Amino acid sequence: MSGPYDVVVVGLGAMGSAAAFHLARQGRKVLGLDRFTPPHSFGSSHGQTRIIREAYFEHPLYVPLVQRAYQLWAELEHASGRDLLRITGGLMIGRPDGVLVGGARRSAEQHRLRHELLTAAELRTRFPALRPADDMVAVWEPRGGILFPEAGVSAHLALAQAHGATLRYDEPLASWRSEGDGVRVVTDKGEYRAGQLLLTAGAWIRTLVPELNLPFTVERQVVYWFAPRADPALFAPARCPVHLWETAPRTFFYGVPDLGDGVKVAGHHAGEAADPDQLRRTVSGAEVAAMRELVRRFLPDADGALRSAAVCMYTNTPDEHFWIDWHPQQAQVLIASACSGHGFKFSSVIGEVLADLLIGGQSRFDLSLFRGRRGGR
Ligand SMILES: Cc1cc2nc3c(=O)[nH]c(=O)nc-3n(C[C@H](O)[C@H](O)[C@H](O)COP(=O)(O)OP(=O)(O)OC[C@H]3O[C@@H](n4cnc5c(N)ncnc54)[C@H](O)[C@@H]3O)c2cc1C
Repeated sequence: MSGPYDVVVVGLGAMGSAAAFHLARQGRKVLGLDRFTPPHSFGSSHGQTRIIREAYFEHPLYVPLVQRAYQLWAELEHASGRDLLRITGGLMIGRPDGVLVGGARRSAEQHRLRHELLTAAELRTRFPALRPADDMVAVWEPRGGILFPEAGVSAHLALAQAHGATLRYDEPLASWRSEGDGVRVVTDKGEYRAGQLLLTAGAWIRTLVPELNLPFTVERQVVYWFAPRADPALFAPARCPVHLWETAPRTFFYGVPDLGDGVKVAGHHAGEAADPDQLRRTVSGAEVAAMRELVRRFLPDADGALRSAAVCMYTNTPDEHFWIDWHPQQAQVLIASACSGHGFKFSSVIGEVLADLLIGGQSRFDLSLFRGRRGGR
């Protein structure tokens, strides 16, 4: 038995590593546990790059959060001395009445963000790698860019440790129970006491609170890197912003410029349902062919050899907004699932939000979209 700690953080991926850092920086005695050694490629935070964007099509309420996230990424870069963020600009491309273009415009207008609306012809001239259909338009935003997820997780963990956090890897949480007004957590290596418990276990989170029957589903997602077929300079970050496409109503894919390993492309949602312990990690020829079909249509010069592919997991809530809330029966247990395929960019600020909730009981951000109020209980 060891402790007492102030907080045990279970899961040290994107969200848990950031929370451990913010808690430790504010003087909390933190124990962090992970079933693997993060950053690793078994969860949701691998694959070299993640998109960050400000004109948030999903809901304008995310804009203040992402603005704080940008500040915190910059601070983390400074404190860790690592490159974590590269600004390329961002494009949301689709029909003018689609959710992607419509939602991005709504956020940009409501928050007075710098942006431009481009016709298909303007888009093709300005960014020749991209070939939208004639009836598509694009919202261009200057602050879109690329985050490096493995480096971000490593930086948060290193700084958490520098501020005194104890981090234990390859030590999964086996069970936990409340004890007085705190908790006792059990692993196969020991038992620990703490005042509070933070669950940030990504795709495995439902198994840690089975009594809640959380309404989350895990979705398998494949990402691909294709070699440019023609002029590789067209896909360099200087000439090719990060780009999201709505190719049919609520059907999305995205692309990331070539940073040396090829042009990264992937669908957003529409993956098969998955069990995190039985994830199909091989990618079939049919999956590659389907992705290549999209590449040929919208990024034809990226239709070179497949360089590599990787399999990752989304943990989706029914409405695809995050879930950040206290356990309904245990006031000392906080549950955070900030994924649904769009959480990484926020992890710097979600870490701060979780620390504020655990330390002072509140956050300065409007978290109303994220309350655990939607079914499953
Ligand atoms: C292919 C793909 C592309 C994406 N693209 C973007 C993007 O462009 N922009 C964006 O903002 N977001 C994107 N996302 C979403 C983003 O990556 C996720 O929202 C984020 O990584 C989720 O972080 P997490 O901390 O919840 O999960 P993870 O980072 O997976 O962390 C969960 C951790 O919990 C640990 N764990 C599990 N069970 C236990 C246990 N019992 N005991 C101890 N530890 C445990 C795991 O080992 C893991 O380290 C993408 C996701 C995927 C899969």
